[in-house]
Amino acid sequence: MFQRIRKPIVISTAILFHLLLIFHLFFSPVIIVLASYKSIINASFVAFVIILLLSLFFGRAYCSWFCPGCGIQEVLALIIKRKSKNSKATYIKYFIFTVWLGVIIIGYLLNGIHKIDLTYGMSDITIERKIILTIGAIILIVPLTAIFGRFASCKYICWQAPFMIIGTKIRDYFHLVGLRLSCDNSKCNECKSCSKKCPMDLNVMQNVKNGTMSDSECILCANCIDTCKQKAIKFTFKKLKHERLTRMV
Ligand code: SF4
Ligand code: SF4
Repeated sequence: MFQRIRKPIVISTAILFHLLLIFHLFFSPVIIVLASYKSIINASFVAFVIILLLSLFFGRAYCSWFCPGCGIQEVLALIIKRKSKNSKATYIKYFIFTVWLGVIIIGYLLNGIHKIDLTYGMSDITIERKIILTIGAIILIVPLTAIFGRFASCKYICWQAPFMIIGTKIRDYFHLVGLRLSCDNSKCNECKSCSKKCPMDLNVMQNVKNGTMSDSECILCANCIDTCKQKAIKFTFKKLKHERLTRMV
């Protein structure tokens, strides 16, 4: 049920991202680095802060519902059926995130913040550069997916995911209400459909049995909800209660 809504939305964001030049201003990991060394708060600075704030209430839902990279993965999933493993390689994204954020923080510390310019970088985004960036994204994501399986780039190298993981951890630490999965393990008949359907390769059935649905790799895509005939899993908008976090990265 949710997939009929989610997939068209997330695939549309991928198409729009690559068609409309302005999208790049909001999500470029490069323009924000350049802005930090010119003392400018730019559009992607604002976008990343908004993503962090949204994760306080919606966890990693942005990943599976709106992220252009996920949209590409959904298209690739039509061809590549093998899932990438939820292995230690998932830690690579934290290294990328730390180095990238460190460079930005150093930029602002050295140069200060002197102005807000949400159009900063627009004049540099020509159609030719955008085509090169789109081809670059395809060159990066397609081989990763072909070699390691579906959603490999989301799991292993996405520099945005740690923002939302940090936001979700803050939310759960302070017991704030937010969108999350909840389960009724008395309904589970151990069919394993949820684990097989999970694009992030989580052992969802085991999480249901344990009553621990707060895995930091969960992108709230609702595949497990849609596939569970017993209706043992659902979305809820509540505080984290009586549940230890299954992954404490
Ligand atoms: S799909 Fe539902 S019934 Fe089957 S293992 Fe998962 S939670 Fe249990
Ligand atoms: S646990 Fe469910 S909602 Fe989370 S990533 Fe897996 S299938 Fe999606």
